[in-house]
Amino acid sequence: MIETKLLLVDDEEAFVSAMEKRLTHRNMRVSVALSGEEALSTLDQDPDIDVVLLDIKMPGMDGIAALREMKRNHPLVEVIMLTGHATVESAIDGMKLGAFDYLMKPCDIETLVKKVEEAKNKKRDQEKRIMDATGKELRRRRGA
Ligand SMILES: [Mg+2]
Repeated sequence: MIETKLLLVDDEEAFVSAMEKRLTHRNMRVSVALSGEEALSTLDQDPDIDVVLLDIKMPGMDGIAALREMKRNHPLVEVIMLTGHATVESAIDGMKLGAFDYLMKPCDIETLVKKVEEAKNKKRDQEKRIMDATGKELRRRRGA
C-alpha cells in the first residue's frame, strides 16, 4: 500500500504532537503545522502532500481562510476540516469551498484514519484521470 502524505494543522501543540504520534504508525508520513500560514508554506515546499487535516479555529489565519488558499494554489490536495461544536457551520461552509469532509473533535482515530484514506484515494483517482487525459491528448496531437 502506498504511504499517505498527511499534513496536520492545529494551533494546539499538545493535540498536534499526540495525533502525530498516533498517525505515524498508520502507513502515513505526517507533517505538522501550528498555523494556517505555516500550513501554506509547508504545502508549497511539499506539493506531494495528499491530505490536510485542518483545524478551523486558529488565531491569525483561520481554517476557512487557509482552505481557500490551499484550494487556489494546490487544487488537488484533499482537505478534511477539524471542528468543535461551535464551528460546525464553518465546517459545512468549508465543504462548499471544496473540503472533502469534516470531523468533530475529539475524533475517533479509526474514523479519522478511514476518512484520510478515502480522501487520499479520491486524490489519486483524480491524478490518474488527469494523467490518462494528458496521454490521450498527446497521442491525438501526434495523430496516432
Ligand atoms: Mg484551534
